[in-house]
Amino acid sequence: MPVTEDTVVRARVALGGAVQGVGFRPFVYRLATELELTGWVCNSSAGLVVEAEGASARIDAFLERLEAEMPPAAVVSTRETAILAPAGFRAFEIRSSDEDAAKVAGVLPDLATCPACLKELSDPSNRRYGYPFTNCTLCGPRYTIIEDIPYDRPRTTMRAFAMCPECRREYTDPADRRFHAQPNACPRCGPRIWAQPENGDAPLRQAAHVLRTGGIVALKGIGGFQLLADARQEGAVARLRSRKHREEKPFALMMPSLERVRQYCHVSGAEEQLLTSRAAPIVLLRPNGNDGIAPNVAGSSPYLGVMLPYSPLHHLLIGECEFPIVATSGNLSDEPIATTNEEACARLGQIADLFVMHDRPIARPCDDSVARVVRSRESVVRRARGFAPLPVYVGRDLPKVLAVGGHLKNTVAIAAGKQVFLSQHVGDLDTPEARQAFERAIDDLCRLYRFQPEVVACDLHPDYASTRWAQSSGLPVVEIQHHHAHAAACAAENGIEGPYLGVSWDGTGYGTDGTVWGGEFFLAEGAQFERIAHLRPFRLPGGEAAVREGWRSAASVQWEAMGPEAVGNRPERQVLLRMLERGINAPWTTSVGRLFDAVASMTGIAQESRFEGQAAMLLEREIGELATDESYPLPDGDWGPLIEAVHQDVTRGEATARIAARFHNALANWIVRVAGRAGVPRVALSGGVFQNGYLVERTATLLEARGFQVYTHQRVPPNDGGIALGQAVIAALRG
Ligand SMILES: [Zn+2]
Ligand SMILES: [Zn+2]
Repeated sequence: MPVTEDTVVRARVALGGAVQGVGFRPFVYRLATELELTGWVCNSSAGLVVEAEGASARIDAFLERLEAEMPPAAVVSTRETAILAPAGFRAFEIRSSDEDAAKVAGVLPDLATCPACLKELSDPSNRRYGYPFTNCTLCGPRYTIIEDIPYDRPRTTMRAFAMCPECRREYTDPADRRFHAQPNACPRCGPRIWAQPENGDAPLRQAAHVLRTGGIVALKGIGGFQLLADARQEGAVARLRSRKHREEKPFALMMPSLERVRQYCHVSGAEEQLLTSRAAPIVLLRPNGNDGIAPNVAGSSPYLGVMLPYSPLHHLLIGECEFPIVATSGNLSDEPIATTNEEACARLGQIADLFVMHDRPIARPCDDSVARVVRSRESVVRRARGFAPLPVYVGRDLPKVLAVGGHLKNTVAIAAGKQVFLSQHVGDLDTPEARQAFERAIDDLCRLYRFQPEVVACDLHPDYASTRWAQSSGLPVVEIQHHHAHAAACAAENGIEGPYLGVSWDGTGYGTDGTVWGGEFFLAEGAQFERIAHLRPFRLPGGEAAVREGWRSAASVQWEAMGPEAVGNRPERQVLLRMLERGINAPWTTSVGRLFDAVASMTGIAQESRFEGQAAMLLEREIGELATDESYPLPDGDWGPLIEAVHQDVTRGEATARIAARFHNALANWIVRVAGRAGVPRVALSGGVFQNGYLVERTATLLEARGFQVYTHQRVPPNDGGIALGQAVIAALRG
């Protein structure tokens, strides 16, 4: 059934902040009962958790009124919503608090500047006028300043700053907005900023000047250094790319205001909410075609990644500039983000023309988060500042599992009670710096939550740095197949009970048969899974090299479908043919990600990928506004007929948009066919391939029209950043 106003849905909302002991649970009970909803509300260590079930339109009303009409003493600082499979509740009840609520202290994420602080910041008569570290109990840094629990000033990086009498008065006055605001500070007693090298001008005015004249500024932000450039200047952006060794990966933007965002992008209501939320992530938006942003900012992406200023420092800087600026992680290539002034000088010295530093230490690195709206719901693509370390509520008691995640886009997780606490995005574990950050993230989570793992869950891949760490940890190890972890993560965060079809598609993962998987269908339930369908295997000539060089995948499928003549006239042709014919250095794969590479190469869009998923991104972008139901044949996942059809279209000079759309549609149709045979009503879509907006929307629409319930990621990323959650849940179920 398509989703209508009458469709029964279940919403889960987790509210953090001052929400306990203020009459919030009775309020939720009254509101839910008035709207004739079923479900429950309870206190947990993460704050207040509500599940409400009922007609979609009533749920919308509930979600809207939840904060609009909440008790006056309540203060909501974080809110995470997910739409789940209906559970069939009979009534609405107030449940007793989770046992673990008392045991595990809730550590809040960093919160964007609140309206009251923003007002003080721009009020010349206020003592915090223009002060870049203004904050209160409703806003400011949390996770990036806490060193240990309980959360109290001496256990934060603010301990070196003794409060002046005025700040101390605010801090100790229960009626004050800054009562027990741990990072409380003012120009007299708090942290300060400076420019390096300085020229006697005010630091932020100096920074604005450097940006305006095409230079690059390294700014010490909330969770680490950011590299900034004027987003209107193609030359400045190109300079940043070449110095940072980031040739093509899209850059994020910080825009002065929502009005300015609308000048360049389409912004829906849900997207506006996400942009202006306390998490203040980078939101992936569709550009509206207006000029003004240099084309090399987004690069291959069909989207612009946009955020609003989220700290006083950013508000003040963008106030000086009043133009959109590129704001990207302060690192070289894919290394972890630099957090200390010394580290920044050493690592970013060759990149930045000017540093803006401050003396408030950063306890742990935290990149900007990335999110988007998919199927009218929030979907997190990179979970870091503003979200970490909020838990994902999984609704069942889990034993003490530490999940160490995958190798790329690594995150780690711990399971405690009914919740899985996820670390911030750590990154790719290719460098010693990244592996150090990975170990620190594990130490951090365990220390902050006084957590002693009993089991370690890791990937089945023997060569992942995370797997090797698990194997040498001395704890019992549970190995979890990569794509199964993806599907289980999606099922867990969506509250799926009972059997479901897990569609798990990405670039690479180690299969149970030792081959490279990535186009898998599982009939799954709990910790069990059966691989019921997969992409027809093909060889990856050159192995790892084929991940970067998509033309290798193209050559492989064309050789198989149409013979040696179809392999183009590249210099490597002979070597390649030998690899394919003899199967030397040409492992088997069922990866849909690699099939995207092949089609992108055949159409001439991309022969190589400079970053993970680039070719697929380009292929999605090609579709543009084209709407068509036309499709290529892909019988039982056999790409042979599809490759032949693509080849014919390319030869005939068919428009690339049409080829790209037919390819995407073929994949969606295949999912619908497998779902039809699987005999279960629930379908979970997971894996990096489902970051593709076109594919997700189309597949979901087709499935829902045939009565399937479709589940996609909301609170954790569909990419490898989400697999730690799946590992934790599966290990717990097996245990
Ligand atoms: Zn505030
Ligand atoms: Zn002060």
